[in-house]
Amino acid sequence: MNIVLLGSSGSIGLQTLDVVRRHKIKIEGLAVRSDVKMLEYQAREFKPRFVCVYDESCYMDLKTRLADMRVEVLCGKAGLCKLASVDCDMVVNAVVGMAGLEPTIAAIESGNKLALANKETLAAGGELVMKRAEEKNVKIVPIDSEHSAIFQCLSGNNKNSFTKIILTASGGAFYGYSKDMLKTVTKEQALHNPNWNMGGKVTVDSATLMNKGLEFIEAMRLFGAKPEQIEVVVHRQSIVHSAVEFADGSIIAQMGVPDMRVPIGYALTEPLRFESGAKRLSLTETGNLTFEEPDEETFICLPAAKKAAVAGNNACAVLNAANEAAVAAFLEDKLEFYRISELVNDALENVSANKSVSLQTIFEDSAAAIEYVKGKLK
Ligand code: MN
Repeated sequence: MNIVLLGSSGSIGLQTLDVVRRHKIKIEGLAVRSDVKMLEYQAREFKPRFVCVYDESCYMDLKTRLADMRVEVLCGKAGLCKLASVDCDMVVNAVVGMAGLEPTIAAIESGNKLALANKETLAAGGELVMKRAEEKNVKIVPIDSEHSAIFQCLSGNNKNSFTKIILTASGGAFYGYSKDMLKTVTKEQALHNPNWNMGGKVTVDSATLMNKGLEFIEAMRLFGAKPEQIEVVVHRQSIVHSAVEFADGSIIAQMGVPDMRVPIGYALTEPLRFESGAKRLSLTETGNLTFEEPDEETFICLPAAKKAAVAGNNACAVLNAANEAAVAAFLEDKLEFYRISELVNDALENVSANKSVSLQTIFEDSAAAIEYVKGKLK
């Protein structure tokens, strides 16, 4: 099989290349945001037909680096969309943030099967994405570990017979913290996750529980669930990656040691399964598994996401963009940690979203939310 990988220098991208090496999958195209040094290294190893750098100011540098190779060098949003439309067996979208939305749409329009790790795509544009995927008969397989778990639990079952999705959450770096304690946490603390090794944005999202909020919306869109059918459960051990309850009361869960190569591998090879390289789970050595309700009084991003989920697609776009802007400000030391969730809630309250859903209104509402957040920074 041959694939296009968007976001090849990030955490999911690198682990996808690990899976690719293991299964001898052919790489048609690779794209990064700005790390051309890494892209050059990857291009020499995987010899793709196309490479793309999103940041256009890096284009000449990349072109020079690869001058001796037979590879087409693309750049910018247009390059990313062209790459997503290349004839291939699957596009793996591991771009971080809203930049992933248009390539997702481009892949669908050209009929390419999608393995989706970009959760903002479904959080901000899920209604549109799923509608077009259905119309174009394009299959979307989730890479996010929870959604991969749900996807696996549902496979072989009547998709309409599930009654509840149980979305598990690690609880993030600040599990057990009070509102007051959150006021003094540092960037270093927020960038530490006990169970998963991830990129900066998703690790911060995990600490605010916004990650679970985005995943709540992601699950709704991917599996056609109503908001009231999704239950978020804090599970500190990250062994049960999520579960599904069916009409007869059965709950099917997917378990394993936390290792992203499992959901990535499954997305690439499903319904088949191959050796992933992941450590085996010993149930007797694992000991107790705990499950509890999330603290939504302290971690107010999660109830905000649920509110947006009920309100509709463009409210979700506002929520997602406000969060993206707030997290970026936090990572640039322009915002305190606890203000991220306050600003997300404020934006949701004060930015009025369009009623109709299109690529244009999604971007309009996202831009309004970003403006709103920027206006609140010092
Ligand atoms: Mn996840």
